[in-house]
Amino acid sequence: MTLAFIALAGVVGLAIGSFLNVVIWRVPRGESVVHPPSACPRCGHAIRERDNVPVVSWLLLRGRCRDCGNPISPRYPLVELGTGVLFALTAWFAGPTWILPALLYLAAISIALALIDIDAKRLPDAIVLPSHLVALGLLALASANPGGESDWPAYLRALVGGVALFVVYFVMVLVYPAGMGFGDVKLAGILGLYLGWFGWGSLFVGWFAAFLLGGIFSIGLLVAGRAGRKSGIPFGPWMLLGAFVGIVAGAPLTSWYLGIF
Ligand SMILES: [Zn+2]
Repeated sequence: MTLAFIALAGVVGLAIGSFLNVVIWRVPRGESVVHPPSACPRCGHAIRERDNVPVVSWLLLRGRCRDCGNPISPRYPLVELGTGVLFALTAWFAGPTWILPALLYLAAISIALALIDIDAKRLPDAIVLPSHLVALGLLALASANPGGESDWPAYLRALVGGVALFVVYFVMVLVYPAGMGFGDVKLAGILGLYLGWFGWGSLFVGWFAAFLLGGIFSIGLLVAGRAGRKSGIPFGPWMLLGAFVGIVAGAPLTSWYLGIF
């Protein structure tokens, strides 16, 4: 893998991150992500093109609007930087393969959904529902693997994984409605597709890691006295983080675990 390839993915990620900032702000408010063009939320002046360069513009403007001088949240450049880093890491992990587009799409919606869930305590259908179709399409491309050997058993596993994780979360929400919502159930469908594609071990690790990481975090908050039992920490970010653990570490963890016996 060349460094140039990883760097290119990082630069693409910076630009996608800039778009995700728009998605994170507008989608929960039911606004269009393409129109109108971005404007300062304080003074309403349209953002000039030269002030819309990811991360760099925020630094040059020292975090202030050019028109009204009001501070611009550092979250904007951080989302851009975070997306850039995640895209670079994804390109490093997957290399120039046909699974890369599917993983980059997952990386992008993960950042958007995690922050929307933290902000608004929900996972909008406007992102989650069409993402099932996008995932099905991109994973089909990865399974077809043009120019190489196809892997349709992986696609069948993805379909089974998507249904399985959807059903598991559906049952969990019915049994324990306080812990999760139906937004999480729908998200589970997408994550099950991805995890199933990578293997049964990934599916299990991805599912389990969400509860492990979310549980450790909740206990940490309780111990630190920062949260009551009913503070309602959203579960979506943990599901997404768990899925990445499952994709990256599912196969090695499974073979290590099976090797013990
Ligand atoms: Zn302004």
